[in-house]
Amino acid sequence: TAASAQQHVDLADQWSTHNYHPLPVVVAEADGAWVTDVRGKRYLDLLAGYSALNFGHRHPALVGAAVEQLGRLTLTSRAFHHDQFGPFCQELAELTGTEMVLTMNTGAEAVESAIKVARKWAHQVKGVPVDTAEIIVVGDNFHGRTTTIISFSTDPDARTGFGPFTPGFTVVPFGDAAALAAAITERTAAVLVEPIQGEAGVRVPPTGYLAEVRRVCDANDVLFIADEIQSGLARTGTLFALDHEGVRADLYTLGKALGGGVLPVSAVVGRRDVLGVLRPGEHGSTFGGNALACAVGRAVVRLLSTGEFQDRSKVLGAHLHDRLGELVGRGVSAVHGRGLWAGVDLTSMTGRRASEALMERGVLCKETHGSTLRMAPPLVVTEAEIDLGVDALAAVLS
Ligand code: PLP
Repeated sequence: TAASAQQHVDLADQWSTHNYHPLPVVVAEADGAWVTDVRGKRYLDLLAGYSALNFGHRHPALVGAAVEQLGRLTLTSRAFHHDQFGPFCQELAELTGTEMVLTMNTGAEAVESAIKVARKWAHQVKGVPVDTAEIIVVGDNFHGRTTTIISFSTDPDARTGFGPFTPGFTVVPFGDAAALAAAITERTAAVLVEPIQGEAGVRVPPTGYLAEVRRVCDANDVLFIADEIQSGLARTGTLFALDHEGVRADLYTLGKALGGGVLPVSAVVGRRDVLGVLRPGEHGSTFGGNALACAVGRAVVRLLSTGEFQDRSKVLGAHLHDRLGELVGRGVSAVHGRGLWAGVDLTSMTGRRASEALMERGVLCKETHGSTLRMAPPLVVTEAEIDLGVDALAAVLS
């Protein structure tokens, strides 16, 4: 009944912290690109868990891998080996063309881990005096919610009231390679950047920027850390968003879709001479690399290894951007993004208002920062479903 949906909202309101502002839809079931609420109403999911659901809800290969593993072994902790860990690390390294894998759980943990590794590498290998390493980040970044990560956020909501902040970070504007080059010092360990900024509104940097970041890093013996937690794993039409520029990072942070929307799985993948600085006892996580996570992660790697999802994102993403482009001048000022990933800047209403109106019409997506609507459909979405979503947006805006 309608009352029971309201009861769920009220329970959350009364008993959970208020650090989110969800749309008032209460989902009970999902399949592929569709979710069903507690009243039985179906919605097209055009958010896909902020790219955690790249393969759609409950992809049979992922649920199958999880169920099979649940019947065998879930966790050993890293005190012991288990038979999913080595194969997962090998398969992920081979898929990503990297040499070593550090397994964690959440995206923020992967970013924290990359920061720690880069600092240790700088002190131990590059010769930066101990505990003085600097990391360069860019404005409007989003890398997670831990105290260190928010220390270099430029978003007041993420920071205000949560200090004191972790030192050792320098912020330069996104897309400005000259500013980045100017910020490098002898103590710089790494540059940390989202190749396409997700939370900032699916912002694609100017062509050539990422190649220039690579060149500046090489010239200064600085690590290039690409945060591909939201942009990676087929979201933009290639395995990594960096691939569009023909650029390789030294370290990649991965998360979200690495767990197939089934459970949290994250990793740092990259160079052996960098990740290899970690010694026993220096870093870890009880759940990082657990057997269930590795089994699901292996199934994710198998799905990505065919290229099918990358191709779907490329082809269907072109269609999405064509259709959204038709709305420019009709309640939309600009559309950003790549592949099945779009930030739609609205002129006639807030992103929140548009999200609510879309929800009424059976389409789910979410605003980011006031007047931008973010769309990241699951990569199993069809062309007809994209049309349904864009038509609904056109109707909402008119
Ligand atoms: N990095 C990027 C680029 C992200 O988009 C996110 C989450 O939105 C994170 C890191 C943090 O991931 P998690 O929420 O799993 O900690």
